[in-house]
Amino acid sequence: MLKVLKFGGSSMASAAQYAKVRAIVEADESRRVVVVSAAGKRAREDHKITDLLYLCHAHMRYGVSCDSVFGMIRQRYLEIRDELGLSTDLEGELDRIRTAMENGMSEAALASRGEYLSALLMADYLGFEFVDATRWLFFRMDGSVDQLRSYAALKEIAAGKRIVIPGFYGAMPDGSVHTFTRGGSDITGALAAAALDADIYENWTDVSGILMADPRIVKDPEPIPRVTYTELRELSYLGAQVLHEDTIFPVAEKNIPLNIRNTNDPEHPGTIIMERFDDADDPADERRFITGIAGKKDYAAVSISKRGLSSEVGAIRKVFEIFENHGLAVEYTPNGIDTFSLVVCESKLEKVLHSIVSQLQEKLAPDEVRVKKDLAILAAVGRRMAGRPDICGRIFSALGREGINIRLISQDPREVNVILGLDEADYARAVQVLYDSFVK
Ligand code: ASP
Repeated sequence: MLKVLKFGGSSMASAAQYAKVRAIVEADESRRVVVVSAAGKRAREDHKITDLLYLCHAHMRYGVSCDSVFGMIRQRYLEIRDELGLSTDLEGELDRIRTAMENGMSEAALASRGEYLSALLMADYLGFEFVDATRWLFFRMDGSVDQLRSYAALKEIAAGKRIVIPGFYGAMPDGSVHTFTRGGSDITGALAAAALDADIYENWTDVSGILMADPRIVKDPEPIPRVTYTELRELSYLGAQVLHEDTIFPVAEKNIPLNIRNTNDPEHPGTIIMERFDDADDPADERRFITGIAGKKDYAAVSISKRGLSSEVGAIRKVFEIFENHGLAVEYTPNGIDTFSLVVCESKLEKVLHSIVSQLQEKLAPDEVRVKKDLAILAAVGRRMAGRPDICGRIFSALGREGINIRLISQDPREVNVILGLDEADYARAVQVLYDSFVK
């Protein structure tokens, strides 16, 4: 049995958090591979080390001294080391970084040093071997990960060992450091789990899993116990954010379960994400068919009406082409007869609206083009909705009883979601109504 664990910034923020991490790792023999983030915030007004590193680079670029910012980074890591009573040579490491900065260290190389220093300290603290990410995580020239090469390298390096790996970065073909986008240590963890065919990828953070609804709207929403990759994709696309969005691909490919856990509440089972579940042992409560509720504001619908549009060959292609040429992603396309609507991001539409409307007029000669702004998209996502009659009916009645008007409706035949367009003003209330009706 092998478990790969990733600890996020809040789990690496202080000596006290390191102690929690060690207790978690030592509680289970099979927790042999640990991926870490840079130190995160200890409190709300605190700084993330990665932010400070980017700030240092910006200072250098503009020829402004970054001594005070670098001093904060230095102090934070030395404090963790000293409180843990470790003897890692951080002074030497920090001096080397400082010298490299004077010699024009790249932004990526500098940004990666948070993870690097965290991993050095954690390896020392756990008595595990430190394995630098540049030894196995290989990027191609285009910035994509060379999975085969990376997996083979890590397999060889990690065989029979207990190791700590810094997250967030790896090596370009010329050996230089390259980082993922922000939050990318999640991806490093997933790649390590896939490389080593781990039995589970445990992603340790500061919440007890993915919440069923936005906690800024619903008070203390329950965490989702089990969610499939498909459901998670639907939820995270529409705003439920716990993981970096590229995290799931490496583990999903190998069907490795991903478990989101809380370092501050290690007994909580968190959320398990897998390809599929045998739901026979799920709660018998048939009211609970929703896995999670998510949504986003800032949408607009462009509706094009023209008599005979439905039977006009190539009309829809022309419409799509116009949106494509303006670089605008079309997210949903609810239709009527002779009316075709495209739901797009409102703030992006604003910049190109006039040009789009004039091209629609020129190429399609529609009877009418209407734009409905201030829309929100709300999705009820749940694998238990599939094949069950009356789910939509119940969702619509719950919203209808509260006087919430539904502007658009979309469901694909997999039936894992019901997507609704609402006025932005109704959005928060709609989330609450669905939660109260089908979760609480
Ligand atoms: N430290 C990096 C960031 O803040 C990567 C990570 O924590 O996942 O974005």
